[in-house]
Amino acid sequence: RRSNSSVVYPGGPPEFPPVKKLNPLQKKRILVSGGAGFVGSHLVDRLMLMGHDVIAIDNYFTGSKMNLAHWFGHPNFEMIRHDVVDPIMLEVDQIYHLACPASPVHYQANPVKTLKTGFFGTYNMLGLAKRVKARFLLTSTSEVYGDPEEHPQKETYWGHVNCIGPRACYDEGKRVAEALTYSYARQDGVDVRVARIFNTFGPRMNWHDGRVVSNFIVQALKGDDITIYGDGSATRSFQYVHDLVDGLIALMESDYTDPVNLGNPEEYTIKQFADMIVELVNEHRARYGDAGKTSTVTYLPAVADDPQRRKPDTTRAKEVLGWAPQWAAVDGLKETVAYFYQMMHQH
Ligand code: NAD
Ligand code: UDP
Repeated sequence: RRSNSSVVYPGGPPEFPPVKKLNPLQKKRILVSGGAGFVGSHLVDRLMLMGHDVIAIDNYFTGSKMNLAHWFGHPNFEMIRHDVVDPIMLEVDQIYHLACPASPVHYQANPVKTLKTGFFGTYNMLGLAKRVKARFLLTSTSEVYGDPEEHPQKETYWGHVNCIGPRACYDEGKRVAEALTYSYARQDGVDVRVARIFNTFGPRMNWHDGRVVSNFIVQALKGDDITIYGDGSATRSFQYVHDLVDGLIALMESDYTDPVNLGNPEEYTIKQFADMIVELVNEHRARYGDAGKTSTVTYLPAVADDPQRRKPDTTRAKEVLGWAPQWAAVDGLKETVAYFYQMMHQH
């Protein structure tokens, strides 16, 4: 039973999930920056279950302690409130560097901070990796391809980013993070990995995240209008979070050092996606005898520099990692709708 948790559980604290017992040679100490966020918390879960020691650091800008509360008090787990823009001294074997706001709403709220996080945050994590000889994995993004002129996007594509537009703080922040990562590899021999992540969704996305999946699900659950920016013809390809976690760990454990796309090539227009979510939410509510109100789609002005098409070419991930997504978007969405439904009824 947990001994040290500050969280109050009605009916007593639950058991910790069972973690694997590793011998000291297999057990690594792993740092996850941005560990309290959506992807970070799922990655922490998996690394904990695998039996490693995990240190999560986060400034809670978009993440939440509640995403990791189920590990509080576990002897293999530590949580540190820390902003990666400032240096930190730790001793670790591996670093998964995720800390960075990922939703356009959040990364555009303070673009200078986003750029500082992209540069100084990555610089501090790479400096740490260099000092302690840890392997370093950067979670980069499909946004390094900008509004792509090549479709689907391969890792060899250099991208099409507007460096003075409203998305530049994130896109260029990640591009400079990649440049910094490979500079540390060349100059100082840091052992690096770079994942270019395409749109990923799942449980624990922040209710107010602002990205399309959580926005549409929350709107559909509340019976509000589904807000499509533009005419709904832009496309995205959606990956379920468990596939991403598989890919991140496979990449970290591989010998491959060039960037690798991680995403699900299933491509939808935003309008198709909106229709699918309304249908899934209605089906979920019906299961609980909850009639609710069916949402209708409303079209709002397009946002500036919105990439018009996005789909990963995942050939490299398949060849070098033996990785391919296992979850159809619709199955992941069912899980995510169930999560948000539960969240709504807890509030
Ligand atoms: P998220 O916003 O849920 O998580 C980011 C986490 O980083 C949050 O917990 C936040 O509090 C923390 N953070 C932000 N700035 C920080 C700072 N300066 N210091 C310490 N912590 C900080 O987003 P996510 O979807 O989980 O994204 C995780 C990573 O994956 C990000 O680097 C993002 O760029 C990358 N990524 C995600 C997607 C996706 O679709 N989810 C796609 C491409 C890339
Ligand atoms: N989008 C939308 N309505 C919303 C949120 C997003 O139409 O409420 C659109 C957005 O303009 C983009 C796509 O959905 O075309 C994906 O947006 P998101 O913010 O999820 O991530 P992006 O891939 O743009 O970083």
